[in-house]
Amino acid sequence: MDYNTLLQIVKEYGSPTYVYDAEKIVLQYKRLTKAFNNVKQLRINYAVKALSNISVLKLFNSIGSGLDTVSIQEVQLGLKAGFKPEDIIYTPNGVSLEEIENVAELGVQINIDNLSILEQFGSKHPKIPVCIRINPHVMAGGNTNISVGHIDSKFGISIHQIPLLLRIVENTNMTINGIHMHTGSDILDIDVFLYASEILFETAKNFKNLEFIDFGSGFKVPYKKGDIETNIEELGKKLSKRFNSFCKEYGKDLTLAFEPGKFLVSEAGVFLAKVNVVKQTTSTVFAQIDSGFNHLIRPMLYGSQHEIENISNPKGRERFYSVVGYICETDTFANNRRISEINEGDILCFKNAGAYCFTMASNYNSRYRPSEVLIYKGKPQLIRQRETFEDILRNQLEIAM
Ligand SMILES: *Cc1c(COP(=O)(O)O)cnc(C)c1O
Repeated sequence: MDYNTLLQIVKEYGSPTYVYDAEKIVLQYKRLTKAFNNVKQLRINYAVKALSNISVLKLFNSIGSGLDTVSIQEVQLGLKAGFKPEDIIYTPNGVSLEEIENVAELGVQINIDNLSILEQFGSKHPKIPVCIRINPHVMAGGNTNISVGHIDSKFGISIHQIPLLLRIVENTNMTINGIHMHTGSDILDIDVFLYASEILFETAKNFKNLEFIDFGSGFKVPYKKGDIETNIEELGKKLSKRFNSFCKEYGKDLTLAFEPGKFLVSEAGVFLAKVNVVKQTTSTVFAQIDSGFNHLIRPMLYGSQHEIENISNPKGRERFYSVVGYICETDTFANNRRISEINEGDILCFKNAGAYCFTMASNYNSRYRPSEVLIYKGKPQLIRQRETFEDILRNQLEIAM
């Protein structure tokens, strides 16, 4: 995305705004499928929660992707975007039996991650095949906020509970057609991932009617210079080989499934915001933008470092800035970052803003959520309008006083 196009988008649709590049999304999708082209049946289910705009979902549908969903609303969005129910997998955590039944009714693949619901669902609907989410207790990455496979995690059915799980399956006479793991959001080490996969293969041998094995996600993308990136090609080579040999052993060609979010959309997105104020204090120069953690919470929530470029003055002399927002609370995007000289009115561009950025935006401070633009076939198109005052008041009721 060249700077002139981005500046033009701000002129046309205002600031702040999210911009996504469809071409980059497709490129990432193709890169992943290519890395696994030795597997007979591959399924990529895009994790909707990363970026759930309906036009983005339509894009994924047009390239043959499936969907990974975590709520019935995400399922409904997917169906509205044109996905067939059988191309959607539903992987909730801690939701009610009722919601799971409602999703099953729609014909969507159910993935259950606790024994209580498994037993209840299996007893009531033994004919509906379900996938089970296993917790292999493998810790991927260092940040406990985003590592969900370890021992204290609330996600998945512990491998230590497999005997209990097998008893439930036998007693209810239900069919397990898939097994799944999602160990966390950071696969730094392919060997750790392969190790977790072995646990999944071992578990898989207990089930006779499998159709697929879902390896979840956790592909890491670089956020700043020097960041490690998951080597997809190497993972593809090693896991494909192992998967194919497992299928031989199992006696059936299973589908290998993944459900990446970040890998597919993170780098395809940028967030554009305008500098309202440049404020010099005794020790720091603050650049205050017309946004805050109400629009992009990852730096405050996870300590994520999004690269920031001043696209209004890209060739300017670099100086140190702390980039902060307009929320009446600490909302720091970057501490003492080298950025080319910033003047009030300049447009800053935050990289890696495709995943978990807009979807986590809120109306805190009664601000409007930003607009979203998709560059599709070279043409920027508005895919979400900026909110208005009506949106702030929607659902609020004034009572007599
Ligand atoms: C969030 C989530 C994903 C996507 O994770 P990324 O790190 O964005 O690739 C995949 N599967 C499940 C079950 C998830 O909850």
